[in-house]
Amino acid sequence: MNKCPSCDYERKDLDVRCPKCGDFYPTIQALLAEEVAYEEQHSLRGWCLRIIKADDIKAALGQEFKQFKDELSYKGMFTLFLIISFVFALLVSVL
Ligand SMILES: [Zn+2]
Repeated sequence: MNKCPSCDYERKDLDVRCPKCGDFYPTIQALLAEEVAYEEQHSLRGWCLRIIKADDIKAALGQEFKQFKDELSYKGMFTLFLIISFVFALLVSVL
């Protein structure tokens, strides 16, 4: 069951506004736009587009790299390490 994002009041499917706090519920379009913006922010395609569009590519690259490092958790770091070591092991066994 859906809930009001502002007050957690239980939401009915056809309600546009929350009866408790009067807040408008986000519409499907708003949610979709948010989703697309998030994808754009976190996909490789969006990443390339931002780099290409930037005036100072070097500075943009540095900033993106810094943001990537900030977002990378230990779990992500470990996964990355596993992938790299796996690829390395594969290469070594082939050569
Ligand atoms: Zn509410």
